Amino acid sequence: MFTLLFESKLKPNVTSADTPPMQKRDSEWINLFEKYISKVNDTCVFMYKDHHYSTSKSIKVPDDKRFLISTDDKKFLISTDAKCKFTECTCSFHAIIYSNGELIIKFKGSICHSPSEQRARPIRGTSRRSIAEKLTSGSSPDQLRLKELGHLTDNNRKFGNYNLVGSSPHVFRKIRSEAKTSLMLDKDLSVSLEKIKEEQSQEINAGKSIPGYLQTITICPLRLILFTEGGLVLWNKVGGNVPVSWDATGGIVMSRGKRIFYYELTISNISTPSITTKNLSGPSFPVTSMLSNTHKTLDLVHWLQDFELAYRKLFGFNSQFPKPPIVHSDGALVFQQAALRFFNGDLTISTYLKRCWTIVNKTATKEDLRKTLVHSCLAHFVKNLKHQAVKHYSKQKVSSVSFIFNVYFDCFQVPFALWIMSLLINSNSIEEMAGIWEHVCTVLLSPTQNSSYSISISCLSNAADNMNKDPNKDNFIIKNVKVDSKGVCRYPTTFNQV
Ligand SMILES: [Zn+2]
Repeated sequence: MFTLLFESKLKPNVTSADTPPMQKRDSEWINLFEKYISKVNDTCVFMYKDHHYSTSKSIKVPDDKRFLISTDDKKFLISTDAKCKFTECTCSFHAIIYSNGELIIKFKGSICHSPSEQRARPIRGTSRRSIAEKLTSGSSPDQLRLKELGHLTDNNRKFGNYNLVGSSPHVFRKIRSEAKTSLMLDKDLSVSLEKIKEEQSQEINAGKSIPGYLQTITICPLRLILFTEGGLVLWNKVGGNVPVSWDATGGIVMSRGKRIFYYELTISNISTPSITTKNLSGPSFPVTSMLSNTHKTLDLVHWLQDFELAYRKLFGFNSQFPKPPIVHSDGALVFQQAALRFFNGDLTISTYLKRCWTIVNKTATKEDLRKTLVHSCLAHFVKNLKHQAVKHYSKQKVSSVSFIFNVYFDCFQVPFALWIMSLLINSNSIEEMAGIWEHVCTVLLSPTQNSSYSISISCLSNAADNMNKDPNKDNFIIKNVKVDSKGVCRYPTTFNQV
């Protein structure tokens, strides 16, 4: 009871500190009531209609005498009326807090909630701030909501009282986006970014030739290039020897307008075993990153050019900028084109393909072999291939008979097509690939399961077995799709989720 009084007396200080200039409606008193109401009624979701404060100075009790008040000194402090939000429910209450800390709640009506109805009070004031704090310190809105759902009481669930988690997942997401906006140093984006850059240059590598983390700010189109001097030093040391990868994701930065992508160039694990045994497991290390709301080849090229410029500033303009042996990316064309353009100076993909052709035919020059290889992620490639295959088969649905036939084929042929593709991808040399391709053609073009079909499918099945034994070829499809020498294809049901 005394805590209640104490908190109610603290209230004016809290609001005056947080919202001095604006006449914002203060709802903190509701949180105060809710804390106690939820202990006696955790089924209803109350909406507060009005409240009355006592303005009498006589009720003010000095802090040191707070614990000495007797029940006789009880004076009216605050009262409120509230009614349950649920459509059918008639439950309401009138509550009064007295100066001695007593809280009297008088409930009226009967509780009646439809099982399909779920309601929640708006999350405001201190409860909103505490959620915002949790959301800015690592948890995602959906994770936090899931956690809070676990704290709902049995009655909360049974009667649809979702006060703890808000009426929809959107509530927590909104709180997070508000919290992020409040981190801005200025209302104007460019000023805010300039201030962040300034702040960082005083905290990170201050006084060195490349201070800070945020290096380039371009507002339209938005492009922020980020790296530290440490990243440049690391690049100087290993950039020319280790595989690098880059990727983009659109889910990190909140944006009200155009979607902002976060790009990152990382080098694979640089602890000694990874370089010597080609083992790419272990944590990778980000060297530089970029935020951009355009997703074009030249954006990526510009990003790396800025990185190179800073490298030259640090290591001298005549120094050789390290170029990695392999650049991994998902299948996105922008990454492939940007890597070709920046690292190899190839203006078109066909220039690169021509060089690849000379390499696989063993007619490449030393200069050709020194250039960076551009790899696409196999998983993305296979996913794309599956998408194309499914699209192709679904196009053939003409009559209902052929529809059933095609459904059967969808299930059967797509894994088979991916299996064939995996065999081709996993070939070590152009000769091996050509051999497999020949067998693939024989299998696919044979009208019946004749003897040449049987030979070819056995050869393919054998090749798959050999690839499975090779520890360097860890391929989900070859491992999980089994095609026997009679051409029967078996695969686990989880395959459809790939
Ligand atoms: Zn109710």
